[in-house]
Amino acid sequence: MIATPVIRSVAIVGGGFAGAAAAYHLAARLPHGTARITVYEPRAFLGGGLAYDTEEPVHRINVPAVRMTLLPGDDEHFLRWLADSGTLADDPAATTADGHVFARRSAFGRYVAAQLEPLLASGVVEHRKARVRAVAPVGDGRWRVEAEGCSTLLADVVIVATTHPSPQAPAALARALEGHPRYVPDATVPGALSPIRSGDRVMIVGAGLTAADVIAVLDAAGHRGAIAAVSRRGLRSRGHHLPPQEPFGEFVTSPARSARSLLRRVRRAVAEAAAVGVTWHAVFDRLRTQGSDIWRALPVIEQRRLVRFLRPYWDVHRFRIAPQVEAVIEHRLAAGTLTVDAAAIVGVERQETGEIAVRLRQRRDGKTVEKRCDAVVVTTGPGHSGVLRSQPFLAGLATAGVLQLDTVGLGIAVDDSSRPLAADGRSAQALYIAGPLARGTFGELMGLPQVTEHAIFVAEQVARDLMRADGMATSSR
Ligand SMILES: Cc1cc2nc3c(=O)[nH]c(=O)nc-3n(C[C@H](O)[C@H](O)[C@H](O)COP(=O)(O)OP(=O)(O)OC[C@H]3O[C@@H](n4cnc5c(N)ncnc54)[C@H](O)[C@@H]3O)c2cc1C
Repeated sequence: MIATPVIRSVAIVGGGFAGAAAAYHLAARLPHGTARITVYEPRAFLGGGLAYDTEEPVHRINVPAVRMTLLPGDDEHFLRWLADSGTLADDPAATTADGHVFARRSAFGRYVAAQLEPLLASGVVEHRKARVRAVAPVGDGRWRVEAEGCSTLLADVVIVATTHPSPQAPAALARALEGHPRYVPDATVPGALSPIRSGDRVMIVGAGLTAADVIAVLDAAGHRGAIAAVSRRGLRSRGHHLPPQEPFGEFVTSPARSARSLLRRVRRAVAEAAAVGVTWHAVFDRLRTQGSDIWRALPVIEQRRLVRFLRPYWDVHRFRIAPQVEAVIEHRLAAGTLTVDAAAIVGVERQETGEIAVRLRQRRDGKTVEKRCDAVVVTTGPGHSGVLRSQPFLAGLATAGVLQLDTVGLGIAVDDSSRPLAADGRSAQALYIAGPLARGTFGELMGLPQVTEHAIFVAEQVARDLMRADGMATSSR
């Protein structure tokens, strides 16, 4: 008698980029017909997520298209898709004067969705347009996955790919401005900026990539009022150096063991690069590719120091803005309609007229000044430390003792295979974290190339587990 093959069930919670990439690469590694991959994602399509499911034409990918691919090793895959699908021809502003392509973020989302399309059509991958509300062990090694409006699924393996939680607005702002028509606590919500009028004085809290997006969107919508971006250090995201440069420096041979010595090495490498006509960008490109090894070589206390003191500097050099967005920012700075200040918010008052009075303690002299504005937009980045409370299913897994916050407060504690670590040090079985939530263990895990590599790594672990259980060999595209 021939035994009926067991069809394994894999549930992926979150079908933004990391979830879609994990599904795609897992499907490629499993013999056809051996598994069904169910991706829970409330958005209309897989692969978009927060970054690439956007209708805003001024939201651009912040690196040239050749650095964005679902298929590492085929760097021009997305670029070819842009050309073949006619997307490039429809967006002449994507190509800079020197020939680099900075596509719209929505185009990248459509590209990923297009790669998933055949898998959806064949039924290897199923997209359930629903939000998962509970994931719990059932006792036989499987997981019960419950989603809004869907029947319960028993999964052999679960991959969590729900990314960082939304920003946590500073408490003083949230208390004083709750309900104000032009208080925007989360600028990533579609249409969040539409209540802002063209002449409004806008205060942006934060000055990183999301702030740059906000400025570009307001400008394109005809906003001409004053914009004041305020952050503790007054740093803002830098632009690119477009002529190609090889990554510069070496940080993994006898790696730094403290944040301070790492900083010294970076400064030295930047100086050495400058001496041979290479810009700092090339040093940060090397740091990015060696980020995971650099991070893992640091003791936890030094990782914490790095997060606390150096991350703001890392973020603005590492995550650069597209030239199109940089041009808007430079123009507004030159015109005096944009200022970037280093200050802490120490008080907020809502006036009867609707005007907002913000008291700021300036970093340069410690003095407190008051600024008046008509709108406040929060762009302070993900609320990392609140991740376990941000979703009922994560809170449930934390209460069940399956997962916990990592030691640096950037996401969920995971082992070297990206499986959640419980407080007693045991790794969860058949449960994986894909994407930026695993950053505390894997280090640099924000930019697309690293998220792709990590999704492939998780897909390989899952394929190996399933094939081992069934005594089969994995395949690879
Ligand atoms: C605004 C922005 C712009 C970026 N731009 C770039 C760039 O230009 N270049 C670059 O290299 N990197 C960029 N990045 C970084 C990186 O590419 C993205 O962060 C990456 O897409 C992360 O993928 P992800 O799957 O973790 O998150 P997402 O793609 O956001 O996916 C998470 C998904 O989980 C879903 N979800 C959440 N909870 C549940 C639940 N309970 N049930 C079901 N689904 C759920 C959400 O709907 C979401 O779609 C950007 C990031 C952001 C936030």
